[in-house]
Amino acid sequence: MDDALKVACPHCHALNRVPAERLDDAPTCGRCHQPIFAGHPVALGVDSFAAHQRRSEIPLLVDFWAPWCQPCLMMAPNFEAAAGELEPNVRLAKVDTQSEPTLGQQFGIRSIPTMVLFVKGQEVARQAGAMGALDIIRWTQANLPGK
Ligand SMILES: [Zn+2]
Repeated sequence: MDDALKVACPHCHALNRVPAERLDDAPTCGRCHQPIFAGHPVALGVDSFAAHQRRSEIPLLVDFWAPWCQPCLMMAPNFEAAAGELEPNVRLAKVDTQSEPTLGQQFGIRSIPTMVLFVKGQEVARQAGAMGALDIIRWTQANLPGK
């Protein structure tokens, strides 16, 4: 029985096959040998986004932000804390809409911060405005399928 999930590495973005029941066992990347789950959001750009959004088989929660946005900066430590709780069931990522305007346009981001939750490449929920760590975790879990 093959219950392996494809999971993109946050360091080199290679796809790894990880058995679902091994997600909690601190798997390491077959290419770069770093931990696949480090408890931190991964910064994504145009070149790395699809590996995590479309090819990876765990849900992806993206924080669209910009360095000039004060509420974004206030939310950053909350998002970081949420990563420690939501991994390995969800990958958390950050997209800087100032250095990656293409991604902001592609997903129609009109205000920041905006969080978008993708499951199997499809957007399932989005939420604008800064949130606390607990609210990020609750909002994400409430929008995951099959819960
Ligand atoms: Zn890697």
